[in-house]
Amino acid sequence: MNYQGKRWWFIFFQNSILVQKNKEGLVSIPFAPEVDIPKPKDSQIHEYTFHAKYACTAFELKEPLNQHSEYELISLRESFYHLPLWMYQAAGVAQQLIFWDKNTRYCPACGTPTKRKTLIMKKCPHCGKEQYPPIQTAIIVLIQRGDEILLAHAHNFKSEFYGLIAGFVEVGETLEETVKREVKEETGLDIKNINYFGNQPWPYPSGLMVGFTAEYESGEICIQKEELRNAAFFNIKNLPTLPQKLSIARRMIDWWIDQQHKKE
Ligand SMILES: [Zn+2]
Repeated sequence: MNYQGKRWWFIFFQNSILVQKNKEGLVSIPFAPEVDIPKPKDSQIHEYTFHAKYACTAFELKEPLNQHSEYELISLRESFYHLPLWMYQAAGVAQQLIFWDKNTRYCPACGTPTKRKTLIMKKCPHCGKEQYPPIQTAIIVLIQRGDEILLAHAHNFKSEFYGLIAGFVEVGETLEETVKREVKEETGLDIKNINYFGNQPWPYPSGLMVGFTAEYESGEICIQKEELRNAAFFNIKNLPTLPQKLSIARRMIDWWIDQQHKKE
């Protein structure tokens, strides 16, 4: 698509993204041929086309913005609630490219400074080892028991909400094995009928969340105290505070709530 040389500029400072506000207070990403912002060296600037359509440039600021700037910084999570979905997703790509680039300056095998070969490949000039952005895969599971679902509060949650059981895939596991293991480890429960629900890139910092539904089979809840503070079955009438809308956890819980309303 031809935008007369205009590009979308995804510019980060740590975990925050640079946005601009128009007169109505609406938030957007800068869209221009150039931006008047100090840039890093060329190898730390990432140019990509998102969804085969949007020309994007991403880089990280070395210093915070000065206070007279026409721009402001908001957290990437917060941006979900202000930007169109594609823009939030393209910002997630930017954040993951920047994160990967910063963490692969040296070859992990021999310690030589790496050379960028493509947008998503670096090669060690000494030993030839290639590096690509790693994606950490995690499962998340909605467990139903009759008209209830299992919700849990984990110690690492950022606020007082209850979410779904989740955990990282370990080497050699199928996704379904991860689901079973995580549920058993964290709650002591056995589950059955594990089915794929959907998935979501999770750029915090570089993950993929794969959602499943399952049914309770047997056991009493016995929480893993290092991971969880509480876990219990809830019905639609006594739900606790739920996760924010940007997460697949909330999308799954909302799907379940919809199913419950249809039954009524
Ligand atoms: Zn090497």
